Amino acid sequence: MIVIDAVTKRYPDGTTAVDRLTLEIPDRSITVLVGPSGCGKTTTLRMINRMVDPSGGRILLDGHDIRERPVNALRRSMGYVIQHAGLFPHRTVIENIATVPRLLGWDRSRARARGLELMERVGLDTALAKRYPYQLSGGQQQRVGVARALAADPPVLLMDEPFSAVDPIVRKGLQDELLRIQADLGKTVVFVTHDIDEAIKLGDMVAVLREGGRLAQYAPPAELLSA
Ligand code: ADP
Ligand code: ADP
Repeated sequence: MIVIDAVTKRYPDGTTAVDRLTLEIPDRSITVLVGPSGCGKTTTLRMINRMVDPSGGRILLDGHDIRERPVNALRRSMGYVIQHAGLFPHRTVIENIATVPRLLGWDRSRARARGLELMERVGLDTALAKRYPYQLSGGQQQRVGVARALAADPPVLLMDEPFSAVDPIVRKGLQDELLRIQADLGKTVVFVTHDIDEAIKLGDMVAVLREGGRLAQYAPPAELLSA
């Protein structure tokens, strides 16, 4: 379980991005952070993998303050997916997906087999393995991004508006795929979106943030009060 305990983030320019946020994020389920642009969703996600340090409060992973662990070990336990996939442009699909396994010392053939397995898991035709990112549609790039994040089998997936830049039909396919993957693999997913419909569809728990980085509601979708 990830526990966000009274966490505040104030940036050096004085902006309060997150204000005394407390959330218990259960294991093996999807927790969605939703709210308007600027309400602190990305900042919260980045604090979980220590790309941003809180100004106050603490974050616990399985009962331990995340600052106790070496930052590299922490990040290896968390796959990260962003809006425009952030793929390495000069690497093929299979090389993108196998990046982390290769860094972990897997040999080429094992990393490649893992890459192909993951392409199938995220619904990508393995015939695309040798393409470069620019040769893929937006939706295909996002699938590669998800496969890459899953490559080293991290227990946690952090996803920052991963499907917001693709058209509605492709987005629906990606959402369905994520639900299937999460159910199969039992990942703990923290998913950021500004789209309340997406939050309701995907979330086991939904945290509604509002302006100033304050928590407005935290509940399963069926119990959310309409604002
Ligand atoms: P969201 O993901 O909900 O759009 P962010 O976490 O990106 O929100 O931003 C929350 C607030 O913090 C916004 O007011 C944003 O402008 C501000 N902010 C984000 N990053 C920085 C930064 N590096 N320096 C200063 N202010 C920032
Ligand atoms: P979308 O409308 O979803 O963005 P695209 O028009 O970018 O899709 O691509 C449609 C199909 O054409 C996809 O299957 C994609 O893999 C393929 N494709 C796009 N660009 C190239 C390219 N430069 N070389 C080979 N195939 C491509």
